[in-house]
Amino acid sequence: MLSQEILKQLTDVVGADNVITDQADLLTYSYDSTADVPTEIPDVVVSPLNTAQVSEVVKIAAANKIPIYTRGSGTNLSGGTIPLKKGIVLSMRKMNEIKQVDSENLVAVVEPGVIINELNEAVAPFGLIYPPDPGTVATATMGGSVAESSGGLRGLKYGVSKHYVMGMEVVLANGDIVKLGGKTVKNVTGYDLVALFSGSEGTLAIITQLTVKLVPAPETKKSMMAIFKKLEDAGNTVSQIVENKVIPATLEIMDNSTIRVVENFAKVGLPVDAAALLLIEVDGLEEVVNRDAEVVKEVILKNNGELQVAETEDERAKLWAARRAALPALASLSNTTVLEDATVPRSRVTDMLVACENLGKKYNLTIGTFGHAGDGNLHPTILCDSANTDEMARVHKAVDELFEIAVGMGGTLSGEHGIGFAKMKYLELEMGATGVALLRRVKEALDPDFILNPGKMVPLKGE
Ligand SMILES: Cc1cc2nc3c(=O)[nH]c(=O)nc-3n(C[C@H](O)[C@H](O)[C@H](O)COP(=O)(O)OP(=O)(O)OC[C@H]3O[C@@H](n4cnc5c(N)ncnc54)[C@H](O)[C@@H]3O)c2cc1C
Repeated sequence: MLSQEILKQLTDVVGADNVITDQADLLTYSYDSTADVPTEIPDVVVSPLNTAQVSEVVKIAAANKIPIYTRGSGTNLSGGTIPLKKGIVLSMRKMNEIKQVDSENLVAVVEPGVIINELNEAVAPFGLIYPPDPGTVATATMGGSVAESSGGLRGLKYGVSKHYVMGMEVVLANGDIVKLGGKTVKNVTGYDLVALFSGSEGTLAIITQLTVKLVPAPETKKSMMAIFKKLEDAGNTVSQIVENKVIPATLEIMDNSTIRVVENFAKVGLPVDAAALLLIEVDGLEEVVNRDAEVVKEVILKNNGELQVAETEDERAKLWAARRAALPALASLSNTTVLEDATVPRSRVTDMLVACENLGKKYNLTIGTFGHAGDGNLHPTILCDSANTDEMARVHKAVDELFEIAVGMGGTLSGEHGIGFAKMKYLELEMGATGVALLRRVKEALDPDFILNPGKMVPLKGE
């Protein structure tokens, strides 16, 4: 519980309209989009309006060793914004100005509370796009998605959020304000701190401004759906498309469980008897798109797939709406949805798909697998009930084994959802004790009192 004196100091900085202390309102900040993780009600929610206010809030927190949990839209899937140690939730939603679209340098300068789609709407008249494209483009913030280094549907060709950050303004754990990087394509001055803070999940600094790279919008696109009777054929198609030197903008997979659920939810005419679907989009210059689409078609047919091409914009929109409905549709079926994003080299996608199917059988669990197959980034999604202790014990065993399998294949614990609280206990599996110790040294160097998002990424001192 914070003292009245501290609440007054915070209110003096941001104004009474930007401080929440009502218990019912605070409850909505006690959780995020992650299932099967603890929740906690913060002492206060503070919404700064500018960088100077962020700095003042951090100085108050630092002086009193109060935890600060920075929050964008709370759509993360790793428990990243849950205020485990109470304290301050710092909501960045009100710092939401697009400061500049600089079409000459192909960059935009934004505050962290800007929603990803809002940036894309602002740059579209210039014939530009901001490519990172998580399923939550309509809700997630720029700050949250960079702090998570979110990926999404266009990761295969365009990369993920961290690849688009050229400059940053951050507030450090002692309240100091630092500007890093900028609008130049080349910049090797000092350590690459922009890269360090991208994906640091609010544990090292608070992002108060971003300079991000934009790219020309593709001239044309072609979307296709490939239908398979065998999961293995779908997996092999994924790696062979890329092996044949075609890098689609998007190469997504849905297994049979996901197809059925999505069709029931969205009614877009998906083939419910298929073992797997691939949703593929190639983009670029028209002649290149046509040639790439031809190669994709040949690979699909060679792997016993059936091809459907979206002929109109409406058909294209339906395909992608179906893909974006995958998680909400699966989540609507159970009261707990444990979604993972273990990621493997693309050449092991088939093995990983089969492994997910086998884990479902071994632990008697319903697992729907979908995801960014072209990136090797699958989202096995376990439908369960957190009140059923026997089932949850099987879920936890399946997840432990899933991570062992992914890391054993040369993969990683997380392709895009981050470590947060949920995956911290698995870090050593991938990074070894020395790697985890290095993370701790970085954390201690930048946030010695562990006030920034404590209990995430790096275990608390003594835990
Ligand atoms: C239905 C659904 C689909 C999704 N699809 C995808 C997908 O395809 N790809 C993908 O990568 N992710 C996906 N996600 C996860 C989520 O959308 C992304 O992680 C998202 O970009 C996070 O943005 P946010 O604004 O909600 O951040 P939050 O959840 O609010 O925060 C995320 C992390 O960033 C930190 N943070 C927030 N703002 C700042 C800041 N200004 N400075 C420092 N740290 C900060 C927080 O402390 C937290 O650790 C999906 C989630 C859902 C619910």
